[in-house]
Amino acid sequence: MSASLSDISENTKMGRESALLGNYETSLVYYQGVIQQIQRLVQTIKDSVRKEKWQQVRQEIAQEYEQVKDISSTLSSFKTENSNFNANYGEFSPHNYPRHEEPTRDPDVWPPPTPVEHRPTPQIRGREKAAPRRAEPSRGRGAPSRPNSDRRKGPSYGGVDKGKEPVKDKGREKKNKHDEESEKVFDSSGYDKDLVEHLERDILQKNPNVHWGDIADLVEAKKLLEEAVVLPLIVPDFFKGIRRPWKGVLMVGPPGTGKTMLAKAVATECGTTFFNVSTSSLTSKYRGESEKLVRLLFEMARFYAPSTIFIDEIDSICSKRGSDSEHEASRRVKSELLVQMDGVGGVCGEDPSKTVMVLAATNFPWDLDEALRRRLEKRIYIPLPTADGRVELLKINLREVEVSEDANLTRVASKLEGYSGADITNVCRDAAMMSFRRRIEGLRPEQIRNIPKDELIQPTTMEDFENAILRVNKSVSKEDLERYEKWMKEFGSV
Ligand code: ADP
Repeated sequence: MSASLSDISENTKMGRESALLGNYETSLVYYQGVIQQIQRLVQTIKDSVRKEKWQQVRQEIAQEYEQVKDISSTLSSFKTENSNFNANYGEFSPHNYPRHEEPTRDPDVWPPPTPVEHRPTPQIRGREKAAPRRAEPSRGRGAPSRPNSDRRKGPSYGGVDKGKEPVKDKGREKKNKHDEESEKVFDSSGYDKDLVEHLERDILQKNPNVHWGDIADLVEAKKLLEEAVVLPLIVPDFFKGIRRPWKGVLMVGPPGTGKTMLAKAVATECGTTFFNVSTSSLTSKYRGESEKLVRLLFEMARFYAPSTIFIDEIDSICSKRGSDSEHEASRRVKSELLVQMDGVGGVCGEDPSKTVMVLAATNFPWDLDEALRRRLEKRIYIPLPTADGRVELLKINLREVEVSEDANLTRVASKLEGYSGADITNVCRDAAMMSFRRRIEGLRPEQIRNIPKDELIQPTTMEDFENAILRVNKSVSKEDLERYEKWMKEFGSV
C-alpha cells in the first residue's frame, strides 16, 4: 500500500509539474494514471471515513485534470483554427506553424490571435475533421453536436468553416444544413437551470472521438456491442418483435479493461449524442436532487436522440436494495433510474432517430441491484487482454513514442500477463518517462525549460520497459478473475 501511496504522490507531482511546464499532453497522462490509482486504492479501503476522504481527493484531482484538459483543448483548437485559416486564405505558411508543433516553445506565450473571434458560429464538426484525434473543443453551454453522424449518413467533407468556405458544392451545402439542424438547444425553461447547466457541462460529451481501432483486442465484445447497440440504429426494421433491441447493456469486468472506451466508441461509431454519467457526477454536488438529475438526463437524452447514456460504476449508484448503507436519497435515485429505463430501451417506436440506449459498466457486478440487473438484459464480459491484445495495446500506447531497436514488444507483452489495459498504459507511460526523468533529475523548472527538445526525448529501451514493469503492479488478482467468471456463468448473456 505504501508503494502505491508514494506512486500516487509522485505521479501527482509529475502531472502538476508537467502542466506547469506546459507539457499538457504528458500531464494529462499522469493525471489519468493518478485517478485510476486512487480508484483502485479506494476499492481496497474498508473504513468509510477514510474511503470518503480518498474519494474527495480523487474528485479534486479529477477537477485539476479537467482544467488541464480544457487548456490543452483550447490550445489544440487554436492550432486547428490556424490550419483552417491556412486552408481558407493561404496567407500563413504552414512552415511558420507546423501542425504538430507548438507555435511557440514557451507555454506562457500564446499564439498570435486567430481569426476565430471574427467568424460566424464556429463549426465544431469542421474542426474535428481538421484535427481528427484531438481532444474535444472547450466545453460550455450550447448545442451538442452529433459529430460522427456523417459516418453513418454518408460521405464526410473537409473541415472548412461555413462562413469562409471558398468552394461550394452540393454535398457540403447538405452537410451544413445538417449541422444547423443538429445544433438544436435544449429548452431549459421549466427545469432547474443549475441542473441543466451541470448536465450540459459535465455529463454531455460533445465528441468522445474514440474509434473501434483505438481499442485493442476485445474482438468478441466489439462484435456483441455492434450487434446489441450499433446495428439496431442502422437497420431498425430488422430489430422488431422477437428481435427487439435490448433495454440496456451491461459491461462487466475488472477495472481498466476498456469498458469506458467501448462505450465512447459505440457513441462515436453510431454518431449518437453521448451522456457520460459517473457516480460522482450524479451524487456529489446535487445530493438530494440526484433523482431530478436522472429524470432530466433522460429527458435531455430523448431531446438530443439518438443518444447513448453511459453509466459508469453503476453498482455504486444502484447497489443491492435494503442494505444498511442504503440511504433514502440513493433509494430515490435508483427508483427513478428504473422508471426511466422502462421508458427507453432500444429503438423507440418506428423512429430510430428517437433511440436512447443505456450502456452501463461495473467492476462489481455482484453488488448490483437485482431489479436493475434485470433491466440490463445483455451482459457482456470485458476480460483482461490476451497475449496478442497486449502487443496491440503496447503499439497503441506507444504510437507517439520512439522505441529503441533493442526493445522487443512481443517480449514485453509476455511479461505483462495478467495486466489490465490500464496497467499496460501505466507501464508504457512509466517506461517512456524514464529517460526524461534521468535527464531532468535535480534541475529547476527554468533549467528544464532550456533543455533542447531532442535531448529530452530519447528512445525508450528494453531496460526502461523492464524497470517500468517492476514499478507497476497488476491491479487484478486471480481471485478477482475467478469471481467475475463465476458471476458471468450465473448471470452473463453471450
Ligand atoms: P474501464 O472503464 O474498464 O475501467 P477504461 O476504458 O477507462 O477502463 O480504460 C482505462 C485506460 O486504459 C484507457 O484510457 C486506456 O488508456 C487503457 N485501456 C484499457 N483497455 C484498453 C484497450 N482495450 N485498448 C486500448 N486502451 C485500453
